[in-house]
Amino acid sequence: MKKDYYEVLGVNRDASSEEIKKAYRKLAMKHHPDRNPDNPKAEEHFKEAKEAYETLSDAQKRAAYDQYGHAASDAGMGAGGFGGFGGGAGGFDFGDIFGDIFGGGRGGGGRSNVQRGADLRYNLKITLEQAARGTETQIRVPTMAECETCKGSGAKPGTSPTTCTTCGGHGQVRMQQGFFSIQQTCPRCHGSGKMIASPCKDCQGSGRVKQHKTLSVKIPAGVDNDDRIRLSGEGEHGVNGGPAGDLYVVIHITPHVVFQRDHNDLHCEMPVSFATAAMGGEIEIPTLDSSARIKIPAETQSGKTFRLRGKGIKGVRSSTYGDLHCHVVVETPVNLTERQKELLREFEAINQKDSARHNPRAKSWMDKVKEFFGQ
Ligand SMILES: [Zn+2]
Ligand SMILES: [Zn+2]
Repeated sequence: MKKDYYEVLGVNRDASSEEIKKAYRKLAMKHHPDRNPDNPKAEEHFKEAKEAYETLSDAQKRAAYDQYGHAASDAGMGAGGFGGFGGGAGGFDFGDIFGDIFGGGRGGGGRSNVQRGADLRYNLKITLEQAARGTETQIRVPTMAECETCKGSGAKPGTSPTTCTTCGGHGQVRMQQGFFSIQQTCPRCHGSGKMIASPCKDCQGSGRVKQHKTLSVKIPAGVDNDDRIRLSGEGEHGVNGGPAGDLYVVIHITPHVVFQRDHNDLHCEMPVSFATAAMGGEIEIPTLDSSARIKIPAETQSGKTFRLRGKGIKGVRSSTYGDLHCHVVVETPVNLTERQKELLREFEAINQKDSARHNPRAKSWMDKVKEFFGQ
Protein backbone atom coordinates (compact mmCIF):
# COMPACT_ATOMS: atom_id res chain seq x y z
CA MET A 1 0.00 0.00 0.00
CA LYS A 2 1.53 3.28 -1.12
CA LYS A 3 1.59 6.11 1.41
CA ASP A 4 -0.48 9.22 0.87
CA TYR A 5 1.71 11.95 -0.63
CA TYR A 6 0.42 14.61 1.77
CA GLU A 7 1.16 12.31 4.67
CA VAL A 8 4.65 11.65 3.38
CA LEU A 9 5.41 15.36 3.36
CA GLY A 10 3.43 16.00 6.55
CA VAL A 11 1.32 18.80 5.10
CA ASN A 12 -2.41 19.51 4.91
CA ARG A 13 -4.31 18.75 1.72
CA ASP A 14 -4.74 22.47 1.09
CA ALA A 15 -1.08 23.30 1.69
CA SER A 16 0.34 26.02 -0.54
CA SER A 17 3.12 25.21 -2.99
CA GLU A 18 5.51 27.13 -0.72
CA GLU A 19 4.55 24.94 2.24
CA ILE A 20 4.99 21.82 0.16
CA LYS A 21 8.36 22.98 -1.04
CA LYS A 22 9.45 23.82 2.50
CA ALA A 23 8.30 20.46 3.85
CA TYR A 24 10.09 18.63 1.06
CA ARG A 25 13.30 20.55 1.52
CA LYS A 26 13.32 19.72 5.21
CA LEU A 27 12.80 16.00 4.55
CA ALA A 28 15.32 15.91 1.71
CA MET A 29 17.95 17.52 3.93
CA LYS A 30 17.23 15.07 6.72
CA HIS A 31 17.17 11.89 4.67
CA HIS A 32 19.63 12.73 1.93
CA PRO A 33 21.80 9.68 1.13
CA ASP A 34 24.94 11.76 1.41
CA ARG A 35 24.09 12.54 5.01
CA ASN A 36 22.97 8.97 5.73
CA PRO A 37 25.44 6.66 4.04
CA ASP A 38 24.44 2.97 4.15
CA ASN A 39 21.06 3.71 5.65
CA PRO A 40 18.42 2.08 3.43
CA LYS A 41 15.59 3.46 5.57
CA ALA A 42 16.72 7.02 5.04
CA GLU A 43 17.11 6.33 1.34
CA GLU A 44 13.55 5.06 1.21
CA HIS A 45 12.22 8.12 3.05
CA PHE A 46 14.20 10.28 0.68
CA LYS A 47 12.73 8.55 -2.38
CA GLU A 48 9.21 8.74 -0.97
CA ALA A 49 9.56 12.45 -0.26
CA LYS A 50 11.01 13.05 -3.71
CA GLU A 51 8.18 11.20 -5.39
CA ALA A 52 5.54 12.98 -3.32
CA TYR A 53 7.12 16.33 -4.04
CA GLU A 54 7.34 15.69 -7.76
CA THR A 55 3.61 15.13 -7.89
CA LEU A 56 2.44 17.76 -5.40
CA SER A 57 4.71 20.51 -6.72
CA ASP A 58 3.16 20.24 -10.17
CA ALA A 59 -0.34 21.76 -10.22
CA GLN A 60 -1.58 19.40 -12.94
CA LYS A 61 -0.23 16.25 -11.35
CA ARG A 62 -1.46 17.43 -7.97
CA ALA A 63 -4.98 17.99 -9.29
CA ALA A 64 -4.98 14.52 -10.85
CA TYR A 65 -3.67 13.01 -7.64
CA ASP A 66 -6.30 14.82 -5.55
CA GLN A 67 -8.99 13.38 -7.78
CA TYR A 68 -7.73 9.88 -8.49
CA GLY A 69 -5.11 9.20 -5.83
CA HIS A 70 -2.17 7.00 -6.78
CA ALA A 71 -4.25 5.59 -9.62
CA ALA A 72 -3.51 8.85 -11.46
CA SER A 73 0.09 7.84 -11.94
CA ASP A 74 -0.50 4.11 -12.25
CA ALA A 75 -3.09 4.32 -15.01
CA GLY A 76 -3.77 6.64 -17.94
CA MET A 77 -1.25 9.37 -17.21
CA GLY A 78 1.59 6.88 -17.24
CA ALA A 79 4.76 7.61 -19.11
CA GLY A 80 3.59 10.75 -20.83
CA GLY A 81 2.02 12.60 -17.96
CA PHE A 82 4.77 11.74 -15.53
CA GLY A 83 7.73 11.99 -17.84
CA GLY A 84 11.09 12.20 -16.18
CA PHE A 85 9.58 10.97 -12.96
CA GLY A 86 12.22 8.74 -11.48
CA GLY A 87 15.23 10.61 -12.81
CA GLY A 88 17.79 7.91 -13.57
CA ALA A 89 16.18 4.63 -12.52
CA GLY A 90 16.34 5.37 -8.83
CA GLY A 91 19.73 7.01 -9.03
CA PHE A 92 20.19 10.28 -7.22
CA ASP A 93 20.95 13.29 -9.24
CA PHE A 94 23.10 14.93 -6.67
CA GLY A 95 23.71 18.07 -8.62
CA ASP A 96 20.01 18.60 -8.84
CA ILE A 97 19.14 18.02 -5.22
CA PHE A 98 22.18 19.90 -4.06
CA GLY A 99 21.06 22.85 -6.08
CA ASP A 100 17.56 22.58 -4.75
CA ILE A 101 18.63 22.50 -1.14
CA PHE A 102 21.28 25.13 -1.17
CA GLY A 103 19.64 27.39 -3.69
CA GLY A 104 17.25 28.31 -0.92
CA GLY A 105 16.88 31.91 -1.93
CA ARG A 106 15.42 31.15 -5.31
CA GLY A 107 12.26 32.73 -6.51
CA GLY A 108 11.71 35.35 -3.86
CA GLY A 109 7.97 34.67 -4.00
CA GLY A 110 8.12 33.84 -7.66
CA ARG A 111 6.89 37.08 -9.12
CA SER A 112 9.99 38.41 -10.77
CA ASN A 113 11.33 34.89 -11.36
CA VAL A 114 14.84 35.98 -10.49
CA GLN A 115 16.67 32.82 -9.53
CA ARG A 116 19.87 32.32 -7.65
CA GLY A 117 22.13 29.91 -9.52
CA ALA A 118 22.49 26.38 -8.19
CA ASP A 119 25.32 25.50 -5.84
CA LEU A 120 27.81 23.00 -7.17
CA ARG A 121 29.83 20.31 -5.48
CA TYR A 122 33.31 19.34 -6.56
CA ASN A 123 35.01 16.25 -5.11
CA LEU A 124 38.72 16.95 -4.81
CA LYS A 125 41.20 14.14 -4.21
CA ILE A 126 44.40 15.10 -2.43
CA THR A 127 47.21 13.17 -0.76
CA LEU A 128 47.71 13.01 2.99
CA GLU A 129 50.87 15.11 2.65
CA GLN A 130 48.94 17.80 0.78
CA ALA A 131 46.24 17.71 3.43
CA ALA A 132 48.81 18.08 6.21
CA ARG A 133 50.77 20.90 4.64
CA GLY A 134 48.08 22.64 2.68
CA THR A 135 48.26 23.16 -1.03
CA GLU A 136 46.97 25.18 -3.91
CA THR A 137 45.49 23.44 -6.90
CA GLN A 138 43.60 24.13 -10.08
CA ILE A 139 40.24 22.56 -10.72
CA ARG A 140 38.12 22.53 -13.85
CA VAL A 141 34.42 22.80 -13.20
CA PRO A 142 31.40 22.80 -15.44
CA THR A 143 29.27 25.87 -15.21
CA MET A 144 26.27 27.43 -16.88
CA ALA A 145 27.26 30.78 -18.28
CA GLU A 146 25.31 33.46 -20.06
CA CYS A 147 25.08 32.67 -23.77
CA GLU A 148 27.31 35.11 -25.62
CA THR A 149 25.41 34.82 -28.89
CA CYS A 150 22.12 36.17 -27.52
CA LYS A 151 23.54 37.95 -24.44
CA GLY A 152 21.35 35.72 -22.29
CA SER A 153 18.03 36.73 -23.83
CA GLY A 154 17.49 33.33 -25.45
CA ALA A 155 16.28 35.01 -28.65
CA LYS A 156 18.04 34.68 -31.99
CA PRO A 157 20.30 37.69 -32.60
CA GLY A 158 18.32 40.42 -34.34
CA THR A 159 15.07 39.36 -32.65
CA SER A 160 13.93 39.89 -29.10
CA PRO A 161 11.63 38.07 -26.70
CA THR A 162 8.00 39.22 -26.57
CA THR A 163 5.73 39.41 -23.56
CA CYS A 164 3.93 36.15 -22.78
CA THR A 165 0.27 36.55 -23.76
CA THR A 166 -0.95 33.90 -21.30
CA CYS A 167 0.29 35.61 -18.16
CA GLY A 168 0.83 39.11 -19.50
CA GLY A 169 4.47 38.96 -18.47
CA HIS A 170 3.83 38.18 -14.81
CA GLY A 171 5.13 34.62 -15.07
CA GLN A 172 2.27 33.51 -12.82
CA VAL A 173 -1.34 32.61 -13.58
CA ARG A 174 -4.33 32.01 -11.32
CA MET A 175 -6.09 28.71 -11.67
CA GLN A 176 -9.50 27.86 -10.28
CA GLN A 177 -9.43 24.53 -8.49
CA GLY A 178 -12.63 23.66 -6.67
CA PHE A 179 -13.24 26.51 -4.26
CA PHE A 180 -9.66 27.61 -4.36
CA SER A 181 -7.92 29.94 -6.62
CA ILE A 182 -4.30 28.90 -6.92
CA GLN A 183 -1.47 31.02 -8.21
CA GLN A 184 0.99 28.98 -10.17
CA THR A 185 3.86 29.32 -12.62
CA CYS A 186 2.67 30.13 -16.12
CA PRO A 187 2.69 26.87 -18.09
CA ARG A 188 3.40 28.67 -21.34
CA CYS A 189 6.50 30.70 -20.48
CA HIS A 190 7.49 28.64 -17.40
CA GLY A 191 7.60 31.77 -15.28
CA SER A 192 9.89 33.90 -17.39
CA GLY A 193 7.03 36.12 -18.53
CA LYS A 194 8.55 36.13 -22.00
CA MET A 195 8.05 34.21 -25.21
CA ILE A 196 10.72 33.58 -27.76
CA ALA A 197 9.53 33.22 -31.35
CA SER A 198 12.90 32.28 -32.83
CA PRO A 199 15.19 30.82 -30.19
CA CYS A 200 18.94 31.33 -30.23
CA LYS A 201 20.58 28.28 -31.77
CA ASP A 202 23.56 28.21 -29.41
CA CYS A 203 21.51 27.89 -26.22
CA GLN A 204 18.17 26.57 -27.54
CA GLY A 205 16.46 29.63 -26.12
CA SER A 206 17.56 29.10 -22.53
CA GLY A 207 19.99 32.02 -22.57
CA ARG A 208 22.59 29.86 -20.84
CA VAL A 209 25.25 27.51 -22.11
CA LYS A 210 27.36 24.89 -20.45
CA GLN A 211 30.99 25.87 -20.11
CA HIS A 212 34.07 24.89 -18.18
CA LYS A 213 36.15 27.19 -16.08
CA THR A 214 39.44 26.70 -14.28
CA LEU A 215 39.61 27.84 -10.70
CA SER A 216 42.43 28.05 -8.26
CA VAL A 217 41.66 26.52 -4.87
CA LYS A 218 43.66 27.13 -1.71
CA ILE A 219 43.54 24.09 0.57
CA PRO A 220 44.40 25.10 4.15
CA ALA A 221 46.84 22.90 6.07
CA GLY A 222 45.17 20.26 8.23
CA VAL A 223 42.01 19.62 6.21
CA ASP A 224 40.35 16.26 6.72
CA ASN A 225 37.99 14.07 4.73
CA ASP A 226 34.64 15.69 3.91
CA ASP A 227 35.81 19.18 4.84
CA ARG A 228 34.25 21.68 2.48
CA ILE A 229 35.78 24.78 1.03
CA ARG A 230 33.27 27.28 -0.26
CA LEU A 231 34.07 29.32 -3.33
CA SER A 232 31.51 32.06 -3.12
CA GLY A 233 29.77 32.92 -6.36
CA GLU A 234 31.53 30.20 -8.38
CA GLY A 235 28.45 28.00 -8.70
CA GLU A 236 25.95 28.20 -11.51
CA HIS A 237 25.02 31.50 -13.07
CA GLY A 238 21.73 32.94 -11.80
CA VAL A 239 18.61 33.30 -13.94
CA ASN A 240 17.15 36.64 -14.94
CA GLY A 241 19.85 38.60 -13.18
CA GLY A 242 19.85 36.44 -10.03
CA PRO A 243 23.11 35.93 -8.13
CA ALA A 244 25.36 33.00 -8.91
CA GLY A 245 25.42 29.98 -6.60
CA ASP A 246 28.45 28.83 -4.65
CA LEU A 247 30.89 26.07 -5.39
CA TYR A 248 31.71 23.63 -2.61
CA VAL A 249 35.01 21.80 -2.91
CA VAL A 250 34.73 18.62 -0.85
CA ILE A 251 38.01 17.07 0.33
CA HIS A 252 38.76 13.38 -0.22
CA ILE A 253 42.13 12.18 1.04
CA THR A 254 43.56 9.20 -0.80
CA PRO A 255 44.77 6.33 1.41
CA HIS A 256 48.44 6.61 2.36
CA VAL A 257 50.83 3.67 1.99
CA VAL A 258 52.35 4.13 5.45
CA PHE A 259 50.09 6.26 7.61
CA GLN A 260 46.46 6.03 8.65
CA ARG A 261 44.92 9.23 9.91
CA ASP A 262 42.61 9.49 12.89
CA HIS A 263 41.64 13.14 13.32
CA ASN A 264 44.98 14.80 13.96
CA ASP A 265 46.83 11.64 14.99
CA LEU A 266 48.67 9.35 12.63
CA HIS A 267 49.13 5.63 13.01
CA CYS A 268 51.61 3.34 11.33
CA GLU A 269 52.71 -0.24 11.54
CA MET A 270 56.37 -0.77 12.45
CA PRO A 271 57.85 -4.16 11.56
CA VAL A 272 60.65 -5.09 13.95
CA SER A 273 62.96 -8.02 13.38
CA PHE A 274 62.79 -10.93 15.75
CA ALA A 275 66.34 -10.33 17.00
CA THR A 276 65.92 -6.56 17.47
CA ALA A 277 62.66 -7.13 19.34
CA ALA A 278 64.43 -9.58 21.66
CA MET A 279 67.69 -7.72 22.24
CA GLY A 280 66.64 -4.12 21.62
CA GLY A 281 67.97 -1.65 19.10
CA GLU A 282 67.15 1.49 17.21
CA ILE A 283 64.87 1.86 14.23
CA GLU A 284 64.48 4.73 11.83
CA ILE A 285 60.91 5.43 10.92
CA PRO A 286 59.38 7.89 8.47
CA THR A 287 57.26 10.80 9.66
CA LEU A 288 55.10 12.92 7.37
CA ASP A 289 57.77 15.57 6.87
CA SER A 290 61.05 13.75 7.61
CA SER A 291 62.05 10.80 9.78
CA ALA A 292 62.66 9.92 13.40
CA ARG A 293 64.56 7.30 15.37
CA ILE A 294 62.85 5.07 17.87
CA LYS A 295 64.73 3.21 20.62
CA ILE A 296 63.35 -0.31 20.82
CA PRO A 297 63.92 -1.69 24.33
CA ALA A 298 64.89 -5.33 24.76
CA GLU A 299 61.97 -7.79 25.08
CA THR A 300 59.60 -5.70 22.98
CA GLN A 301 56.48 -7.61 21.96
CA SER A 302 54.14 -7.32 18.98
CA GLY A 303 51.38 -4.81 19.61
CA LYS A 304 53.46 -2.43 21.69
CA THR A 305 52.87 1.17 20.61
CA PHE A 306 55.39 3.97 20.59
CA ARG A 307 53.98 7.46 20.60
CA LEU A 308 55.87 10.31 19.00
CA ARG A 309 54.41 13.51 20.36
CA GLY A 310 53.72 16.25 17.87
CA LYS A 311 54.54 14.13 14.82
CA GLY A 312 50.93 14.00 13.69
CA ILE A 313 48.92 16.66 11.89
CA LYS A 314 47.94 20.15 12.94
CA GLY A 315 44.20 20.35 12.28
CA VAL A 316 42.62 23.29 10.49
CA ARG A 317 40.89 24.40 13.66
CA SER A 318 43.49 23.35 16.24
CA SER A 319 46.63 25.03 17.46
CA THR A 320 48.66 21.92 18.26
CA TYR A 321 49.94 18.94 16.33
CA GLY A 322 48.60 15.43 16.87
CA ASP A 323 50.82 12.44 17.66
CA LEU A 324 52.28 9.62 15.62
CA HIS A 325 51.55 6.15 16.98
CA CYS A 326 53.87 3.37 15.80
CA HIS A 327 52.49 -0.12 16.34
CA VAL A 328 55.15 -2.82 16.66
CA VAL A 329 54.76 -5.96 14.58
CA VAL A 330 57.49 -8.50 15.29
CA GLU A 331 58.29 -10.10 11.98
CA THR A 332 58.88 -13.82 11.70
CA PRO A 333 61.92 -14.22 9.40
CA VAL A 334 61.26 -15.85 6.03
CA ASN A 335 63.37 -17.40 3.22
CA LEU A 336 65.80 -18.85 5.75
CA THR A 337 69.16 -20.22 4.61
CA GLU A 338 70.43 -23.56 5.90
CA ARG A 339 72.82 -21.74 8.19
CA GLN A 340 70.03 -19.62 9.69
CA LYS A 341 67.90 -22.71 10.25
CA GLU A 342 70.80 -24.44 11.92
CA LEU A 343 71.27 -21.51 14.31
CA LEU A 344 67.57 -21.34 15.04
CA ARG A 345 67.40 -25.07 15.79
CA GLU A 346 70.28 -24.64 18.18
CA PHE A 347 68.60 -21.58 19.68
CA GLU A 348 65.32 -23.42 20.11
CA ALA A 349 67.02 -26.38 21.79
CA ILE A 350 68.48 -24.07 24.43
CA ASN A 351 65.22 -22.15 24.66
CA GLN A 352 63.26 -25.34 25.40
CA LYS A 353 65.47 -26.18 28.37
CA ASP A 354 63.99 -23.27 30.32
CA SER A 355 60.94 -22.48 28.28
CA ALA A 356 58.90 -20.92 31.09
CA ARG A 357 61.61 -18.36 31.69
CA HIS A 358 62.14 -17.37 28.08
CA ASN A 359 58.51 -17.63 26.93
CA PRO A 360 56.38 -16.61 29.92
CA ARG A 361 53.41 -15.82 27.74
CA ALA A 362 53.35 -19.26 26.14
CA LYS A 363 53.75 -20.76 29.60
CA SER A 364 50.81 -18.88 31.12
CA TRP A 365 48.70 -19.65 28.06
CA MET A 366 49.46 -23.36 28.42
CA ASP A 367 48.48 -23.18 32.09
CA LYS A 368 45.14 -21.65 31.14
CA VAL A 369 44.54 -24.32 28.50
CA LYS A 370 45.23 -27.05 31.03
CA GLU A 371 42.88 -25.44 33.50
CA PHE A 372 40.22 -25.22 30.81
CA PHE A 373 40.43 -28.92 30.11
CA GLY A 374 40.43 -29.67 33.85
CA GLN A 375 43.82 -31.32 33.91
ZN1 LIG B 1 21.79 32.10 -26.84
ZN1 LIG C 1 3.57 33.34 -19.31
